Amino acid sequence: MRANHRAPGALQRTRALWIVCIAVIALVACAVPGSPPSVPAAANRAMPAGFVHLAALAPDVIQDMRYHGPDNFVGRPVAAYETATCILSEPAARALQAAQAELRPQGMTLKVFDCYRPQAAVDDFVRWGRDLSDQKTKSVFYPDVPKEELFQRGYIAEKSGHSRGSTVDLTAVVLNAQRASQIVRGPLADGMDVDMGTPFDWFGTQSHTDNPTLSPDIQHNRHWLRALLQRHGFRNLPEEWWHYTLQPEPYPERYFNFSVR
Ligand SMILES: [Zn+2]
Repeated sequence: MRANHRAPGALQRTRALWIVCIAVIALVACAVPGSPPSVPAAANRAMPAGFVHLAALAPDVIQDMRYHGPDNFVGRPVAAYETATCILSEPAARALQAAQAELRPQGMTLKVFDCYRPQAAVDDFVRWGRDLSDQKTKSVFYPDVPKEELFQRGYIAEKSGHSRGSTVDLTAVVLNAQRASQIVRGPLADGMDVDMGTPFDWFGTQSHTDNPTLSPDIQHNRHWLRALLQRHGFRNLPEEWWHYTLQPEPYPERYFNFSVR
């Protein structure tokens, strides 16, 4: 039997106090100044009332949540995307559900790339944007734009409408090429994205929805997608064919910061 098992109460309390002190010192010593946590604590709050998971309302919308994984302009998972799931304000999710209901009989489905975006994720984009040494995704996402100009040209900003919860990035995917061919143009095969001319998150003027230099088929497809979403209350951002915001927004002034999970 070890001696400390027989120690009187006062000695036990002193030992306990020392253990607490050592633990606190260790914690302080381990906190290296200047190294931000990958997910700021502020992003860990639960999903507030008024928000829903899109899958609960429209489970057949394809979700390709790019910021949860490495296939995005940052080249790695983005902060606060803990799960690959689309969260939106309930009005935005219901509007998207209605657009999907119109689209499905036409042999297509919506596919979302990003939905509600935590402020912590936007902060992560800003950190990435300021690090000019990291250009590993340049050839894929921004070959024509110098990284030092991403802020000035508006590709990266301190705030995003996505954090207000009613903005979604999306495209359409072919499920039945024969039916889809009556609506959209270009190469069509089951499982294939409708040709919109650029990948999602391409930084350049070819992403401008009305870019007149693109082929007539691509212009047709973009205008068709915009008309579909407009019928369900969404407004397109002219610089990005994939970016849509519900009008009016239920939270026009609020930038949320709960984690995606
Ligand atoms: Zn967007």
